[in-house]
Amino acid sequence: MNIQWYPGHMTKARRMMQENVKLIDIVVELLDARVPISSRNPDIDTLANNKYRLIILNKSDLADEKVNESWKEYYRNKGINVVTINAKSGQGMKNITALVMEACKEKIERDRKRGIINRPIRAMIVGIPNVGKSTFINSFAKKACAKVGNKPGVTKGKQWIKINKNVELLDTPGILWPKFEDETVGRHLAFIGSINDDILNKVELSCELIDFIKTEYPGILTERYQIEEDKDTSDILSDIAKKRGCLQKGNELDYEKAAAIILDEFRNGVLGRMSVERPV
Ligand code: GDP
Repeated sequence: MNIQWYPGHMTKARRMMQENVKLIDIVVELLDARVPISSRNPDIDTLANNKYRLIILNKSDLADEKVNESWKEYYRNKGINVVTINAKSGQGMKNITALVMEACKEKIERDRKRGIINRPIRAMIVGIPNVGKSTFINSFAKKACAKVGNKPGVTKGKQWIKINKNVELLDTPGILWPKFEDETVGRHLAFIGSINDDILNKVELSCELIDFIKTEYPGILTERYQIEEDKDTSDILSDIAKKRGCLQKGNELDYEKAAAIILDEFRNGVLGRMSVERPV
């Protein structure tokens, strides 16, 4: 993963999205179930104004099941259509068409009254980099990879994937950037690996992650690394380095290596399912 936060990229992506949004009925917004707040760009509300909406909490396999339920309840209470999925395994994917139709039921009904039947709903996927947009599109389109191709009246070059008789999907997702100038957002996105580690201080980040885990999921670190959690964070990191034999030349502890292990194991779900953000 190598996100380059060039303002030029962002402007171009935003412009493309502004154009594409005119062609669709519904915006399907992909969020990371572990960090639904930080993986959301609030500009989407303006960009997708007047469009039907569906929120998909992806990577739900890596997030805490109970917290996934709380997030679903949170969005439902706001009258927003929401679903949790694992785009990689396909879990939850079979309901997507029905949910898209449900979210657009007003339009379908309006069309029906005008005698227009079987006009497919047009959808666009949007989300921040690495949230799983391509995986989702591939999974959704798996059985229906036939591209519809350009249609009259549609901007040249736009490709639509016919999912079934009811739904067509724009094959290029809308890329949005998170509000990474916010420190908490930046930290949470760094936890899940959405920010290039090369520009981060891994040791510092791993200490913040250790703090989070020992507070929110006590016992997990002890179980995984056979260490004592009731200590200063830097001592916990040392202990993990020792347990895992992270040594540099001269037998000094290699904190960088220990940090990389914790971050990787958290991101891959080896430490268990954890949600970084909960509804307030
Ligand atoms: P994009 O940048 O939004 O298009 O994201 P990708 O589709 O390229 O996915 C980024 C990474 O997340 C890839 O390594 C995917 O395999 C992984 N991924 C996508 N969806 C899921 C999911 O639901 N669960 C898990 N565990 N990994 C996922």
